[in-house]
Amino acid sequence: MIVPKYFYVIIGGGLAGLQLARQLSRDVFFKGKKIAVIDSDFSLPVKTWCFWEKGSGKWDELMTKSWKKGKFISSEDNIDLSLSPYNYKMINSAKYHQDLQKEIEQSGDIVFITDEIKEIDPVTMKAKGDKDTYSATHFFDSRVDPSYLESKKHNTIFQHFKGWEVETKEPVFNPDSFTMMDYRIKYPEATAFTYILPFTETKALVEYTFFTPFLTEDKVYDEMLQKYFQNILKTKDFEIKSTEAGVIPMTDFPFDKSNSRKITKIGTGGGWVKPSTGYSFKNTEKRIAKIIENIKSGKLPGENLINKKFRKYDAIFLDVLAQNNHKGEAIFSKFYTKNTPQDIFKYLDEETSVSEDIKIMLSLNNFDFVKSFFRKCL
Ligand SMILES: Cc1cc2nc3c(=O)[nH]c(=O)nc-3n(C[C@H](O)[C@H](O)[C@H](O)COP(=O)(O)OP(=O)(O)OC[C@H]3O[C@@H](n4cnc5c(N)ncnc54)[C@H](O)[C@@H]3O)c2cc1C
Repeated sequence: MIVPKYFYVIIGGGLAGLQLARQLSRDVFFKGKKIAVIDSDFSLPVKTWCFWEKGSGKWDELMTKSWKKGKFISSEDNIDLSLSPYNYKMINSAKYHQDLQKEIEQSGDIVFITDEIKEIDPVTMKAKGDKDTYSATHFFDSRVDPSYLESKKHNTIFQHFKGWEVETKEPVFNPDSFTMMDYRIKYPEATAFTYILPFTETKALVEYTFFTPFLTEDKVYDEMLQKYFQNILKTKDFEIKSTEAGVIPMTDFPFDKSNSRKITKIGTGGGWVKPSTGYSFKNTEKRIAKIIENIKSGKLPGENLINKKFRKYDAIFLDVLAQNNHKGEAIFSKFYTKNTPQDIFKYLDEETSVSEDIKIMLSLNNFDFVKSFFRKCL
């Protein structure tokens, strides 16, 4: 029998792949096991990653800024969200990559390889790349299976956005409070809003974001951002220091179904992006802990990574948004005005009991959810 070259091969050295590699490198259980992290490009564009958590946490050293207060603004409501004991935290992906790669390199058991993986043969357990072929006893794979785009059974909403990191002449931002959603600049018949991460009174990242079944042209984001500065912030005097754009799939497609005894899908490719929010930073931490716990207790690494109850709720929510995309503002208004931020975060973190879930659902008081429930659950 030919012995595989690597014990584990991690395809993709992004948020999920690097974190998995680091946790493996820190754990004596995996000491001496040869691991490779393969990425086609380790120097991807810098992303701003935000998440909420209670008090201090393990990423605080990488944190650029955090907020204890937030805002939700619609045509009718302007709500202050007092987050305590949660903080809304922001980290820069470049610093994350730099720090994690350095620590992993120092561990000695893990190598970084630049190559683009084309396919994994599940029988021979070989991954074919552009430059070489890699054998392993188990693959952790962060490539996203594009067939989710063709699925008729599952909804996909794209969270797509462009942000300007700006410096204004006049003080126009409140650095103590970030804006989760501001619906005052509208895009017709769509769920679309402005998201603001203010750093100082004159510096912020301002993003125009869509939750829609369609994508749009680059100039549309620019037009909407321009309107936000003119009509809401009422300033023309600002400089764009950098831009950030992205598309995050919000889908109930069961990516985890392709997990097997020898291949575990991770990250966005494993369905770790929460379908109803597009957030995955904290999910990544939780799921990697679960993978390691599974391996140590003799289970398959990918076992029980996805909470079925919350995946159903997310599927219903996505269906409502897909069928009634123009109602996003009204739905999110109820969500933020009828619930406390603490209840909202607990629910989105998938930590609520059934009675707490029902309370949140009743607060939305919307017949579209009943219709989608029957469509998705019966
Ligand atoms: C601009 C942006 C901002 C975001 N902000 C947030 C946020 O604030 N909070 C949050 O929770 N989530 C956020 N997300 C969503 C999500 O957290 C990120 O997309 C996150 O990076 C996903 O982690 P990942 O490991 O799955 O993918 P990535 O971090 O994208 O890593 C995947 C890696 O796989 C590599 N790869 C892909 N195909 C191959 C191949 N064939 N061979 C070899 N390597 C390959 C890529 O080069 C890449 O390095 C954001 C997403 C974007 C795009």
